[in-house]
Amino acid sequence: MEQNSQHANLRSEWKTVIGLEIHAQLLTKSKLFSPDPSHFVEKENEHIHFISLGLPGTLPVLNQKVLEYSTQVGLALNCHINGRSVFARKNYFYPDLPKGYQISQYEQPICENGYIEFECKGKRKKVRIQRVHIEEDAGRFHHRGHCSLVNFNRAGVPLVEIVSMPDMNSPAEAAEMVRSIRKILKYMKVCDGNLEEGSLRCDCNVSVQKISDNKLGTRTELKNLNSFKFIEKAIEYEVNRQIHILNEGHKVIQETRLYDSTKNKTFSLRSKEEASDYRYFPDPDLLPVSLSKQWIEEQRKQIPESFLQKADRFQKEYGLSPKESFLITEERSRADYFEKMLKTKASAQLSANWLINEVLARFNENRMDIDNCPVTPEQLGEMIKMIERKEISGKIGKKVFSEMWNTKKNPVEIIKKLGLKKISDPNILSSMVEEIINKFPKQVADYKNGKEKIFGFFIGEVMKISKGQADPEALNKMVKEKLNS
Ligand code: ADP
Ligand code: MG
Repeated sequence: MEQNSQHANLRSEWKTVIGLEIHAQLLTKSKLFSPDPSHFVEKENEHIHFISLGLPGTLPVLNQKVLEYSTQVGLALNCHINGRSVFARKNYFYPDLPKGYQISQYEQPICENGYIEFECKGKRKKVRIQRVHIEEDAGRFHHRGHCSLVNFNRAGVPLVEIVSMPDMNSPAEAAEMVRSIRKILKYMKVCDGNLEEGSLRCDCNVSVQKISDNKLGTRTELKNLNSFKFIEKAIEYEVNRQIHILNEGHKVIQETRLYDSTKNKTFSLRSKEEASDYRYFPDPDLLPVSLSKQWIEEQRKQIPESFLQKADRFQKEYGLSPKESFLITEERSRADYFEKMLKTKASAQLSANWLINEVLARFNENRMDIDNCPVTPEQLGEMIKMIERKEISGKIGKKVFSEMWNTKKNPVEIIKKLGLKKISDPNILSSMVEEIINKFPKQVADYKNGKEKIFGFFIGEVMKISKGQADPEALNKMVKEKLNS
C-alpha cells in the first residue's frame, strides 16, 4: 500500500510528451513516380514497373493526383502550402528499397505549420502539425521460416507523412489524434485508413519530463502500432519504463523501439538515426514543384466539410445531442446515410434513433459497413414517416425493419404483405373488445366494483388478439367506453 502511494507520487511529478509521425497511403490509381497500379493485390510482384524496381536508367515522373491529394490534406490540416517544394533523396540500404534511397521531401515539404482540433474525453484539444510531406513507400518482406522474400508491389506507392509537434500529453490523446487524422483522410476519400493492413501507419515519439521542467526529455520512437488499443498500451508501457529509468537515476537512450502486443512490452530495435545519417540531398531527377496560388485555391474547393464541422452542424441544425452527432459523423458514409433519410422529410430525432439503435447496432453485431446496408436510407425514412403519421406503431416498425433488412423490400410492400397496418377501424376494434369482454366476465365485474387497476389487463388481451396492431389511442378510448356502459 505504502509502496503504491509512493509510486503514485513519483508518477505525478512527471509529464508525458508525445509527437506523432503518421504515414498514409494515398488512393491514387497509379504509383507516385511510375504508371503501375498502386492498389493492393494478393499476388506478389504483380505491380512492378521498372521505375518501381529502380532499374538503372529509369526516371521518375511525378503523379499529379498525388500533388492534389497532399495539398488537400495540408489544407484540411490548416497548413501553409509551399509554392515551391523539393523532392529529396533519403539514402539508406534495405533489401526492400532497390534504389538505395527513398524519394521523400526534406527541407522544403509541400505543407507546413498547420494544426488539427479534436475532442478527447469531452475536451477540445489542439495539436500543431509541423509538416506534411510526400514520399514513396518501400517494398515488403514476407518472412518464411529461415528465408525472407521481398515483394515490390508496395514499392513506390504514394504516401503523405503527417508530422505533429510534441503536443499530446496522454496515450488517449495520441490515439484520438490518430483517429481524427484517419477520419479526416477517410472523409476526403484520399486514404482508406486501414491500420491493420498498413494503409495508415503511426510512429509514436514518447518522452517524459518533470512537470517543473521546461526542457523536452529524450524521446524514443515506437513502431509497429497497428491498432488504437496498441497505440495506447505501448505509450502507457513506454512512459512507465522511462519514468522508472529516470527515477533510478539513469538516462533514457534515444532509440527506435518495437511494441510486442502479446507481451505488452516495447523492445529496442535500433539506435535512432540522425538526419545526417541519411545524407539527404535534392533529387536531381525531379524538378522542384511549383504551385500557383490559384491552383491551391482550386484544391481548397475540393475539401469536404470535416467531421467536426458536421458534428457541430448536426447539433445546431437538427438538435441532436453531442453524443449522437459524434456517433453519426464517425464515418462519412454514416453521416451521408443520415442526411439521405432526412431528405424524405422524416424527423431528425427519430431518424437518429433508428440509425443508432437499429442500423448501427446490427452492423456492430455483424462487423459490417453501412455502405452495404440492405435497407436504403430512403426506405428507412419512409418507414419512420409512417410511424410519425401513426400508421404503424414503433413496435411494428421493428418488425417491418427486420423484414426490410432480410428482403430488401419497401416498407409499404411489407406492411401490406404481412398485414401489419395499425388497426384503427372502429368496427374491427369494437368486435375485438367485445370478444375480450365476453371472455372475462369476472374481471369485468371486478373493474365495475372499483378495481380500476385491472384496466390494463383488457388492453393487453385485445393487443394480443390484434397481434400488437390495435391503435393504442383508439383502443384505450373504446375499452373505457365499453366497460363504463
Ligand atoms: P525524426 O524524423 O528523426 O523522427 P523529427 O524531428 O522529425 O525526427 O521528429 C519526429 C517526431 O518526434 C515529431 O512528431 C515530433 O513532434 C516528435 N518529437 C520530437 N521531440 C520529442 C520529444 N522530446 N518527445 C516526444 N516527441 C518528440
Ligand atoms: Mg521519426
